[in-house]
Amino acid sequence: MKKNLEEIKSTAIQQISAATTLDELHEIEVEILGRKQGSLSLLLRKVPSLPVEERPEMGKQGNIVKKEITQLISNKQKEFENAEESEEFFDFSAPSPKPKIGKSHPISQFIREVEDVFGRLGFDIADGPEIDDEHHNFNALNIPEHHPAREMQDTFWVKNLKKHVLRTQTSNVQIHFMEKNEPPFRIIAPGKVFRKDSDATHSPMFHQVEGLMIDKNISLANLKFVLLSALRELISPDLELRFRLSYFPFTEPSLEVDASCPICGTNGKKECRVCKGTSWLEIGGAGMVHPNVLKNVGLDSSQWNGFAFGFGIERQVMIRHQINDLRQFYENDLRFLEQF
Ligand SMILES: [Zn+2]
Repeated sequence: MKKNLEEIKSTAIQQISAATTLDELHEIEVEILGRKQGSLSLLLRKVPSLPVEERPEMGKQGNIVKKEITQLISNKQKEFENAEESEEFFDFSAPSPKPKIGKSHPISQFIREVEDVFGRLGFDIADGPEIDDEHHNFNALNIPEHHPAREMQDTFWVKNLKKHVLRTQTSNVQIHFMEKNEPPFRIIAPGKVFRKDSDATHSPMFHQVEGLMIDKNISLANLKFVLLSALRELISPDLELRFRLSYFPFTEPSLEVDASCPICGTNGKKECRVCKGTSWLEIGGAGMVHPNVLKNVGLDSSQWNGFAFGFGIERQVMIRHQINDLRQFYENDLRFLEQF
């Protein structure tokens, strides 16, 4: 019997110190000291059946253990209560934790800057649909069916909407805008465009900004002034532009626009990661609006003319921050996004 008593005591000490909640402690208490089934209570109930000479000693020992266990339980209970109290304590004078504030995506930030810079040059912001019909995305822009330019831009056709595409360029906004507005006007149209293309420098969805100015006696000189003023503010104050003759169906003449390297200017250095020694970075296309495009929206090209341009937004942000993989913009990795 004495052995049993020691066993109960050592188990009790173990269990009580291991208890992690008040409920757990109560359960242990019932298990040991519970009047009906408690292990110690059951043991003490056997004392009267012991030989007479053993009874007093056993009874005394039993009561000592019972007292010890009761004390242990009440100490542990106090521990829990103190911990609870300290959790409830609220220090009103402590400085509040800094809230985490989100910010715009680097692409959205750049679009806002573009809108601001062109806004100061008198350009309004125009918007158009991302799913558009063949007429606005191709035909009205002087890109008829079977035109090779349709193959240049690998297109997503919309399955259950006849002759509708995810727009391949923001130029569709030109058509929508000119159908509804009388010149003279100056607009820019930033937005998403879609092409079947995906690698380090191409994404199936990317952003463009389209510009259009229609007035009387507009020339390439106006185009150059507008682009140079805007890009010097957006990319680098020493930026120079180089125009190369090109071909787009919706402009005539058409130009490829190159910007000087923001790192080494027009003296490209071989080790430069941005221009790789070429000094020039292709940044967009431009030109004088083709008379057919004006005709398609009902404008008299003998009276009105103007220029149009288009730039990839991602490309400009990549040049500005020397980012080498375009896909990083869309991976939502905070380590990348928080740098802007
Ligand atoms: Zn360079």
